[in-house]
Amino acid sequence: MSDITENEIPSNFIKDIIDEDLRIGRFNKVHTRFPPEPNGYLHIGHAKSICLNFGLAEEYGGKTNLRFDDTNPAKEDVEYVESIKEDVKWLGFDWEDRLYFASDYFNTLYDYAIKLIKKGKAYVDSSTYEIIKEERGVPSKPGVESKYRTRTTEENLELFTKMKNGEFDDGEHVLRAMIDMTSPNMNLRDPILYRIRHAEHHRTGNEWCIYPMYDWAHGQSDSIEGITHSICTLEFENHRPLYNWFIEELEIHHPRQIEFARWNLDYTVMSKRKLLKLVEDNYVTGWDDPRMPTISGYRRRGYTPESIRNFANSGGVAKREIIIEITRLENSIREDLNKKAMRVMAVLNPIKVELTNYPISQVEELDAVNNPEDESMGKRKVPFSRELYIDANDFQEIPHKKFHRLSPGKEVRLRYAYIIKCEEVIKDSEGNIEKLLCTYDIDTKSGSGKSDKKVKGTIHWVSAKHALNAEVRLYDRLFNVPNPDGDKAVDFIEHLNPDSLEVLTNSMVEPYLKNAKPGERFQFERLGYYCVDSKDSTDEKLVFNRTVTLRDSWAKIEKQNSR
Ligand code: ATP
Ligand code: MG
Repeated sequence: MSDITENEIPSNFIKDIIDEDLRIGRFNKVHTRFPPEPNGYLHIGHAKSICLNFGLAEEYGGKTNLRFDDTNPAKEDVEYVESIKEDVKWLGFDWEDRLYFASDYFNTLYDYAIKLIKKGKAYVDSSTYEIIKEERGVPSKPGVESKYRTRTTEENLELFTKMKNGEFDDGEHVLRAMIDMTSPNMNLRDPILYRIRHAEHHRTGNEWCIYPMYDWAHGQSDSIEGITHSICTLEFENHRPLYNWFIEELEIHHPRQIEFARWNLDYTVMSKRKLLKLVEDNYVTGWDDPRMPTISGYRRRGYTPESIRNFANSGGVAKREIIIEITRLENSIREDLNKKAMRVMAVLNPIKVELTNYPISQVEELDAVNNPEDESMGKRKVPFSRELYIDANDFQEIPHKKFHRLSPGKEVRLRYAYIIKCEEVIKDSEGNIEKLLCTYDIDTKSGSGKSDKKVKGTIHWVSAKHALNAEVRLYDRLFNVPNPDGDKAVDFIEHLNPDSLEVLTNSMVEPYLKNAKPGERFQFERLGYYCVDSKDSTDEKLVFNRTVTLRDSWAKIEKQNSR
């Protein structure tokens, strides 16, 4: 992962095109935009597009607009607009005063349509959708021209005005461009520009009852904004001739469109329709469920903006669809939090340890290092007393051959504290372990240098009477196959991982975490990175989300132990 440098996009074919445009003087600046449709929350694929558009502008000293392509009143919502703005900001990008909406251009787009009609390049078609579809035909065979194609300009102007004025019902007429019904490119077979939709729009209310099609709005919006490079995903490659036709017929500013391949991530789905299904059918708790591949999900899970930017910028730009391994994203957050996160001790599945030779009411304040990667983060005091909790995983009554942690008659080091020995296992009437009676070796206090006794294992712990109870949510992959969308015969829902969430309610964390703030991130030593849940954690009940497990906790802890 060390080849990743923040905010720098590796050289790629898009930069080559921009360089050439600037060299030959086609443009003298770079102005990009990020154009989401406000019909869902942003996901990690969008992060790629955001980093690319804002990143390129930054590199070339240009600007980036945030524009909502809000042409579909039925599926859009202000909730989505607000979430998208929040996510772009959180990722660290600033559109300054350039927040736009395609709906800002409804008047201009209407005027453009009138211009086409007057040029004899657009007509009102009164056929049903079924007929229009049938007449468009298939790519291998020319389509059939509509019988309404020969309407006069006057007739078209009159009908289109009436469409706008609400004199017709939904579906009665559409406005179509007059291009070429025989083109092998289906997008050029007299595409629909406007349809009648008596629906309320999230911004224009009931002002309009005709709405521009995405294809009619998208390219012209880029043009109106003076965008130089319209970067979009591959499926728009065969829309490019259409966008060019519009722009040339309208004689307006001509951005260059450049297509690149979508990013997909393994073990998840990325289509907004599928993500919406997960939300609506309650397979997850919402768009920001920490298992979702959304920006808001990753934020709630504890990902940092830097880790997502590094991930997005590290992968380059391709011309062929790619599936990126989720482990790369996980490595990116590990790398970032390893540098930044404060280390604390948390016992997820506690079992009690009583040190029978430790003075009953004694409490020692032991020194603990906050971050071995960053000395400036200093040290803190951790209370140690006669009764402790250790993780159930760190004890085996009948130890495996390579088990170097606590077991009857064996010794282990307690991090920052002493070497202890398990003397006796106390069980309840049903045979469950109630507590472990241990002794500690007073000469082995960490840092005291009194004893050179060495043991193979070091484990973490918390002092029972000082620890705080916490709920810990362990998240795993949402799907249990790399490509849940891969087999069209099987519904992607079938591949949901039933164990993607495990909730532990009896976890114990060290008292330092009393004042942990929502969203604050920590490394639970030997376990992984965790953050305070931003929605459900309260002063009364701490809730932590597992961001990611530690890669190689053992190798690391062994090294520290031998220091
Ligand atoms: P849908 O999921 O319905 O196909 P979409 O992903 O195209 O929608 P938009 O809101 O139109 O969603 O996307 C905004 C921008 O983000 C577009 O420019 C689009 O090309 C880009 N984008 C969307 N998904 C990805 C992805 N997986 N990888 C890279 N860029 C993406
Ligand atoms: Mg889209």
